[in-house]
Amino acid sequence: MKALVYTKPLEVTYRDEADPQAAAGEVVLKIDAVGICGSDMHAYHGHDPRRNPPLILGHELAGTVVAGPFLGKRFTANPLITCGTCEFCVQGRNNLCANRTMVGMTRPGAFAERMSIPVGSLVEIPTGMDARTAALTEPAATALHALNLSMRAMQRPLPESRLLVIGGGAIGMLTALLARDYGCRDLRVAETNALRRGSVAKHAGVAVLDPAKGEAAEAGGMDLVVDAVGAKATRAAAFAAVKPGGVIMHVGLQDWASEIDMRRLTLAEITLLGTYTYTTADLRATVAALDAGAFGDLAWVEERPLAEGALAFRDLHEGRAVSAKIVLRP
Ligand SMILES: [Zn+2]
Ligand SMILES: [Zn+2]
Repeated sequence: MKALVYTKPLEVTYRDEADPQAAAGEVVLKIDAVGICGSDMHAYHGHDPRRNPPLILGHELAGTVVAGPFLGKRFTANPLITCGTCEFCVQGRNNLCANRTMVGMTRPGAFAERMSIPVGSLVEIPTGMDARTAALTEPAATALHALNLSMRAMQRPLPESRLLVIGGGAIGMLTALLARDYGCRDLRVAETNALRRGSVAKHAGVAVLDPAKGEAAEAGGMDLVVDAVGAKATRAAAFAAVKPGGVIMHVGLQDWASEIDMRRLTLAEITLLGTYTYTTADLRATVAALDAGAFGDLAWVEERPLAEGALAFRDLHEGRAVSAKIVLRP
């Protein structure tokens, strides 16, 4: 089969690879669509110690079973392969599974014509849903999980709240779209890349800010700040923007550590929350939300052939991609 292989930092190569075989309890999927994730870009930059070349990356997938049970059925999947028996799996919080591994990291991913995956990871998609939409399930579920956790910690209902999303990449965009669907009307997205800012303004229909030009949300005015970047500067911006009693949801993870204003956190009763991916229940809820149109028409998502994936990686690397999400079609 053909696959797009991460061969060394800043290089992915479209080449022949061995066909995957379904082990016991697994299926082989023909990949119909697969999105390029920020974490794939992180690996491409050589910054992810867990993703080492040569490796087929890709975990935002939609496919059709071509070997194993459920032959001919279409699925997306939970790329986190979890044990099902640890404390967290038993609670349904399988994103925290102590024994988790991951597609496109510890086993070959979906930038390929075919991929094997355990049956337990499959998430069914409705007959009418196109592959491009289904491939957005994984990043959209990250936004859904983050917003649902935020709402549990917030004192005001989201439709009554002022929201700042930092970062107009795919997660920021999907968070803004879902927040709108949840009834939030007072929201803005901060993004330094002009192409992405334009895309957010056009397709999410929300106000945009350019932090590079010193544009910021009203200091101390936001009930919820979602940091979809996670850099030292964005964490500082989140703290400056959040209201007393408000919530900061930390989703992105560019810088691992930085000083936090613990005085303000304490005196202003700010809730700082971390979030990691999604549970399988979140993925199912997200498929239903995508099917109901909760994330809008998704016209901002760009499609390209897998064979031209190397150029897509380069365009994203150089900030030349207008769309925050490129979906590749094998
Ligand atoms: Zn992803
Ligand atoms: Zn587990």
